[in-house]
Parts: sequence; C-alpha cells; structure tokens
Amino acid sequence: MILYSTRNREEKADFRTAVMRGLAPDGGLYMPDSLPKMPVSFWQELRERSLRGKARILFDLLLADDFSENEREEIASRAFSFDAPVVSLDERTHVLELFHGPTLAFKDFGARSMAAMMSVFARKEGDTITIVTATSGDTGAAVAQGFHNAPGVEVYVLYPSGQVSPLQEKQFTTLGGNITALEVNGTFDDCQRLVKDCFADKRIREARQLTTANSINIARLLPQMIYYIHAVAGLLPDGKNVSAEGGLARPVVCSVPSGNFGNLTAGLLAHRIGLPVRRFIAATNVNHVVPDYLSAGSFHPKPSLRTISNAMDVGNPSNFDRMLDLYGHDHQAMSRDIQGAWFDDPQTREAITDVWNRYGYLMDPHTAVGYLGSRQHTAENEQSLILATAHPAKFPETITSLLPDVLETPDQLLEAAAGRKQSIPVEADLDAVRDVLLKN
Ligand SMILES: *Cc1c(COP(=O)(O)O)cnc(C)c1O
Repeated sequence: MILYSTRNREEKADFRTAVMRGLAPDGGLYMPDSLPKMPVSFWQELRERSLRGKARILFDLLLADDFSENEREEIASRAFSFDAPVVSLDERTHVLELFHGPTLAFKDFGARSMAAMMSVFARKEGDTITIVTATSGDTGAAVAQGFHNAPGVEVYVLYPSGQVSPLQEKQFTTLGGNITALEVNGTFDDCQRLVKDCFADKRIREARQLTTANSINIARLLPQMIYYIHAVAGLLPDGKNVSAEGGLARPVVCSVPSGNFGNLTAGLLAHRIGLPVRRFIAATNVNHVVPDYLSAGSFHPKPSLRTISNAMDVGNPSNFDRMLDLYGHDHQAMSRDIQGAWFDDPQTREAITDVWNRYGYLMDPHTAVGYLGSRQHTAENEQSLILATAHPAKFPETITSLLPDVLETPDQLLEAAAGRKQSIPVEADLDAVRDVLLKN
C-alpha cells in the first residue's frame, strides 16, 4: 500500500515507512493512495467468517504488497484474538461490542494490530523497535497491553505520578517483560515534552530505533475497518437480492461515539471500499466541533471540556484532516454521508438508565452517546448499528450512581487490580529518562 500525506498528495510513503513515522514529515496524516471497491456479493460472502477470518481477508486486500501471507495471518491472529459480538436490542437497534479485549475498550484492536505489525518489521530487520509514549491513563493501558510480549518491541510508558487513577495505573504497570513504566515526578504535559525530547536526542536515537504509538498511526486506523465489516456483513441477508445497500430491507446507519474521530474515519474507509452502510452518525459529548462543522460548514477547534464520557473530551480532533481529505474538503459531500449529533452529561446519564430499563442492557457513557445519536437520526425504515467503545465496568462511579448493584466486574479488571505495580520513578528531565533508556 502506498500512502500520501493529507498536506501534500505528492508526499508519499510505503506502508512500513508510514507506520514507523506516524506523522508525515510535512506534519500531515497518512492516507491510502488508492483503495479497491468491492461489490456487495463480496461482503455477503464474508457473513459466515470469524472476525479473525475477516481480518485476514482485509489484510489480503490492502496489505498484500507489505506483508507475506504468513505475516498477514500472524497479524490477524495476534490482533483479532477476541470477539466483537453484535447484540440486538430490538430488530432495528444493534450494538457492536468492541470492549472484550484486555483494556475493555475498542482501542485494543488498533493497538494490538500496530504491535503485531511492528513485531514483523523488527524481525525482518533483525533490530529492536523502541516505543516511547506518554499517557494520562487510557492510551498507556491499550498500548502496553497491545504490545505486551510482542517480540522485538520494547515499550516505555511515561506517566505523571499520582495523576492516573489507581486502576488505570495497574493496567500498564503490572505487565513487566517488554513494558517499562516510568513514573514521572511531574505533569502529563511534562511526560509529553519528555517524549518529544527523546526523539530529538542524538544519543538516544543512535542507541535505539524509536517510534511512537499514537492514535494517528495508520497501523491503528486501517485495522479498525475490520469490525465494521464484521458487524455489517453479519446483518446482510442471504441470497441473490443484491442492491447497492446490501439487499437490506432496512439499510444500516452506523452511530459512532467520537473524540479524535479515528474510529469514524475507519468506518468511512470501509464505506469507501464498498461496505453497504447508508450513513454514519458522528456522536459527541459537549465537545462538538465536528457536529458544528457538519451543520454550519466551518471548523473551529476549541479547548476541551470535561465530561463523563472523557475519552471523547477532544476540542481539536486529530483525524478531522483525514475526514476532510476523504471528501476533498467538500462540506456538502461530507454531510451527505455523516450526520452530527451531540449530547450533554445529563442526557447521557438518562440514556444509560433508559436503555437499562427498556432493554436490560448496560451501556458505558461513551456508548450511551452513540445510542442517543442513533435515536436522533435513524429513520423508521433504517436500522442502527451503535459502536460500543468501552465496557461499563470502566466507569463504576457513573454507573453505580445511576444503577446500584447491576455492574459486574470483568476478569480483565480483576486481574489488573490483583497485579503488583512495577514502575521506575524518574524526575521530569531528559537526563533521567535517557539514563533508563540507555541502561536497559
Ligand atoms: C478513544 C475513545 C473514543 C473516541 O474514539 P476516537 O477514535 O478518538 O473518535 C470513544 N470511546 C472510548 C471509550 C474511547 O476510549
């Protein structure tokens, strides 16, 4: 696969280069240079395949030039090793549960895919790849869990001491092995600055092949197409009645709880290669710069506001440039495919209670925002597919304040809570971080 930068279509890179760089040298984001368009029959034939089988088929379709057949199989089986079931609340409301991985959130799929791909690169080059990343909580957990035991990759997670919730801290400090947690005596901003400083430091760069694991990496984005394919293919009817919308009596509208819009962008890419989805709903909390763009046609980033769906508290979404690029900066074209919707915390709380009372189904605050979006924008003759991005047990305060006694804690959280924290305390300066990186 060849990729180009959203800042300049002539700035191209092969897949490996794009993955190792993260950002293009001109600061743009990488986008696939060309995508195949598959007929409806192609998606219908996938209906009976497992999630991992579908992953393999997508990798065959897009990454055949970049990985051998064995490598594609290895990546699919490492990254798509847990299921993403679709739960139907009623005949036209479906929930795609993306939270059965180690950190109970959809980011596990992207993080594990990227880890598997980097392991393949490291093996081919006979070198070790070092990931340095800063976290205020969630990202660190997904990256650490995703890369845990990935051969040829070492991960350093920098986090601000005392400023990460105890359970989140456990999710990335109890793993050991190739995951080292650096507990920084400073703030999250210090951690981010230190990561930048590591990349600028000659001695570290000479000693280690450094890369980042941030959410804009194309290796995290592309594999996220797979669960859309998985869910939509599963809804397609049998038989030869094949129309542009998959022969569905009720076409599918996907509602995506969004923050940096990586998840939604992956859905748009799946749509581009022909997956029969009628429309998308970009559902946000009060950080609604993208819904505002969709309704008004102008984009105004803002400082983020804190909400109970905090993984979507983003005021300047990093993947918005990719969305603009996909639609050639044509606002009308984008708003034909995507509707915006946003909701505040009281509405989100009410939705959690309402869904529980109505269906006996428990949603986390992010998924509840997606549910509200689908309620607002799905017509009678359509069906909605809501992406459930996190397990409700990740948000015990919110859930138990609304619905005491219904929350069950999954094994993943119990295991992390029982683990022993291992971290290396460091001062918030480059010398201290360099010492650790060069000594290990
Ligand atoms: C990261 C995250 C989101 C937002 O996903 P984007 O791809 O950034 O839009 C939504 N829900 C949860 C639980 C998340 O962790």
